Amino acid sequence: MFSPWRAELSQILLALLLGAFLGQVTDHYAFAFWLSGMLYLLRHLVYAQRLLRWLRGGRVSELPQGDGIWEEIYYLIYRLRRRNKRRKKQLIRMLERFRTATAALPDATVVLGPRDEIDWFNEAAERMLGLRRGDIGQKIGNLLRYPRFTHYLRHADYQTTVGIPSPTVDNLQLEIRIVPYGEDLRLLVAQDVTQLRFMERVRTDFVANVSHELRTPLTVLKGYLETLNDTQGKIPEAYLKIFRRMEEQTVRMQSLVDGLLSLTRLESGAHPLPQKRVDVPALLKLICEEVKLLPEAIPAVELRLETNACLTGAEQELRSAFSNLVVNAVKYTPPQGRVTVRWRDEGEGVRLDVEDTGPGIAQEHLPRLTERFYRVDVEGSKNKSGSGLGLAIVRHVMVRHGAELKIASTLGKGSCFSCCFPGTRTLRDACPAPEVGCASAL
Ligand code: ADP
Repeated sequence: MFSPWRAELSQILLALLLGAFLGQVTDHYAFAFWLSGMLYLLRHLVYAQRLLRWLRGGRVSELPQGDGIWEEIYYLIYRLRRRNKRRKKQLIRMLERFRTATAALPDATVVLGPRDEIDWFNEAAERMLGLRRGDIGQKIGNLLRYPRFTHYLRHADYQTTVGIPSPTVDNLQLEIRIVPYGEDLRLLVAQDVTQLRFMERVRTDFVANVSHELRTPLTVLKGYLETLNDTQGKIPEAYLKIFRRMEEQTVRMQSLVDGLLSLTRLESGAHPLPQKRVDVPALLKLICEEVKLLPEAIPAVELRLETNACLTGAEQELRSAFSNLVVNAVKYTPPQGRVTVRWRDEGEGVRLDVEDTGPGIAQEHLPRLTERFYRVDVEGSKNKSGSGLGLAIVRHVMVRHGAELKIASTLGKGSCFSCCFPGTRTLRDACPAPEVGCASAL
């Protein structure tokens, strides 16, 4: 039998013996057993009272004394309390370490509750966002009053970030990201990106200035080379060959400079996007007619206008983006291949597909294709003249129009570049109906 119970049984036996003894002496057995039973009960009440006192306020180490099952009960509760105490100490230590670590974080960190109320924040948040202890429980939107931030908070698109100036430190640029965690809790992290933004501006300004300064000498050089190339018979053929090469390279440099200037203009965001109606079907017809005029042999180009929808945006930018895609498709597809340009509805929005039966692009290149100067090193591609800026320009134009550029390609089969525009940019009634059959082949 379990030992505490053995001790308890001996206590019961003792009570019974006491009852028998008292009964013998007084000749009142019932009273004697009742009395010994009451004494046994009293013993339990005393131990229970000690336990209560100990649990209410006694130190864990001051374990009360008891016997029988009470000794075991006291010991088990003592072990439980000691374990709890140790766990509590560990938690406090961890919390302390967490507090020290977050306080040392250079980024402002704020814990937000389900109604955007502030639950907790670190020292950097006091410094960079101007939060005070009294702001706990206040809605963050009431304290950081920037339309961009309010929009970000309301739309809860946490894949993106939002940039705001610091409300307390002059010239400090912050980038805010919200990370959801747990149940309805969110962590707001504000990072100081002043230096980063400054470096970006220096880079953009440098590229813009250099490109701008190169324009004039290049135009002069090209003009002289054109004149030299036109002087037939006066210059030996060997020299003329050199001048022609020089002119080709000048044209290439000019297209690089123009591309860089366009990219800088798009990246800077200094020019707000015009909200004009752009007749895309007419634009695509024009682009497809223009590529037909290219001097080299080109594949068949089919234009399929399946919708008459138009867009709102910048006509020049859209023209440059669409033309880049069509020219690329024509450039990289062999003359016996086919290029299909398709304008169609997609849900609320519209979509342009430029599909070709060219050499295709390996999957590993696809994510990097829209980086500036990225060119795929495959036969028939790298040899073609190009700046590697075309797709970077397309991506920027799409971003400015709230559209998405999708690229699908299979090596040896062809590629499809798609521009997907949202419904908010689409105009359905304002454009003339497409031509008969909704499709035209050029
Ligand atoms: P580039 O001036 O070199 O054409 P882009 O930015 O327009 O610069 O294109 C980047 C690279 O993507 C190209 O060098 C080419 O390797 C690849 N590419 C673009 N379009 C196509 C296409 N339709 N088919 C195959 N490769 C393509």
